Amino acid sequence: DVVTRFAPSPTGYLHIGGARTALFNYLFARGRGGKFLLRIEDTDKERSTAAATAAILKGLDWLGLEHDGDVVSQAAGAARHHEVALELLAKGKAYKCFSTQEEIEAFREAAREEKRSTLFQSPWRDADPATHPDAPYAIRLKTPQDGETVIDDVVQGKVTIRNDQLDDMILLRSDGSPVYMLAVVVDDHDMGVTHVIRGDDHLNNAARQMGIYTAMGWDVPIWAHIPLIHGPDGKKLSKRHGALGVEEYQAMGYPAAGMRNYLARLGWSHGDDEFFTDDQAKEWFNLEGIGKSPARLDFKKLENLCGQHIAQAEDAALLQELEAFLGATGAAPLTDAQRDGLSRGMFCLKERAKTFPELLEKAQFILASRPIDMDEKAAKALDPVSRGILSALTPQLQNASWTRDDLEEVLNRFATDQGTKFGKLAGPLRAALAGRAVTPSVFDMMLVLGREESLARLEAAGN
Ligand code: GLU
Repeated sequence: DVVTRFAPSPTGYLHIGGARTALFNYLFARGRGGKFLLRIEDTDKERSTAAATAAILKGLDWLGLEHDGDVVSQAAGAARHHEVALELLAKGKAYKCFSTQEEIEAFREAAREEKRSTLFQSPWRDADPATHPDAPYAIRLKTPQDGETVIDDVVQGKVTIRNDQLDDMILLRSDGSPVYMLAVVVDDHDMGVTHVIRGDDHLNNAARQMGIYTAMGWDVPIWAHIPLIHGPDGKKLSKRHGALGVEEYQAMGYPAAGMRNYLARLGWSHGDDEFFTDDQAKEWFNLEGIGKSPARLDFKKLENLCGQHIAQAEDAALLQELEAFLGATGAAPLTDAQRDGLSRGMFCLKERAKTFPELLEKAQFILASRPIDMDEKAAKALDPVSRGILSALTPQLQNASWTRDDLEEVLNRFATDQGTKFGKLAGPLRAALAGRAVTPSVFDMMLVLGREESLARLEAAGN
């Protein structure tokens, strides 16, 4: 059975590259009835913070990337990592190295001068234990000195590293603490991870990790090292390209479904499909579709996909997500009347909104209450002539049956009587109903607001 994991180091926020890695692992497992596990790689005590862990969990939660089982802390497994180092020692696959930092430096210095490889070769590799001093030691892996290590990567193909280019890596430091690389292998093994999908900045680590798997006689997981995300200009992703933290996208009001769709397309493709649902993503995601060259951020595409996801969302679900967004921004909770209005108006609000702030801007006419606050353009549209026209219109609407057809008929007839076109009436009507120049259609607004409220707003705007 498929078991994947996301293994972030809690040193900051959830980076969109990390979110993409998490999503790929999530989709791969979910599409195969497998498990998606979460491990916090918190062994670096100096750089790991609880706040960063919380931010990562929050980001995953927003994206809906639910993991199976408990969150695993890598640091909590130190005793087990230690035990495996001792097991390798007992098996003769590792050895005690008593070389001091100074000796290692001196070795490197001499190697540089003699233009030899500076990879440290410990004099203790084959030393007779009887000659071991009573001094602190590190435990090093006995890496084969000839032959090669081959990583069979699903994305990168076969990657070959000559073993004479790998030194005998430290497994356990002289203070007894296990190194990160050992922790990753032991954890992935113990957690039963079958597929490791991660950034290709870890490809070099894979060669190291392979040595530990081999020495322990453990099965190596299937590795898929994905190219890192680049900026729109094709350069390595950095702050100047725009938002890097998932929380920033959440704060900008992108819907989570649109973000998931977009992240899935960053470096993975399924034919020409751009827009897809979560179910389709789970069904379609595969390792074969991961690209070999770095994907570029494309904010236009993000917005486009988000717009489509908003337009196609269920009204009730969208309203719920909108309220969560408002809550996160610290806005006052919606009143019952506002919630009712939004729920009645969602059908027109969700057309052409790419973000929740855009949707809220369209919802202004619902959220506003009398007296309607006018923006500058709306105030301008309500000049004395327009006010006069609105006053003449209001009585005609009194008897309308308030269906779309009827409203259209009354307004068109009125425009004709006035010797003008409906288009000319739209500006003043938008201003009167919403206090804005850009709004959903006049008919949609009148239907959502209802007869009483619509007429009250028109009367207030008339003279
Ligand atoms: N903790 C590593 C990172 O955040 C990931 C290690 C892995 O996936 O093996 O980059």
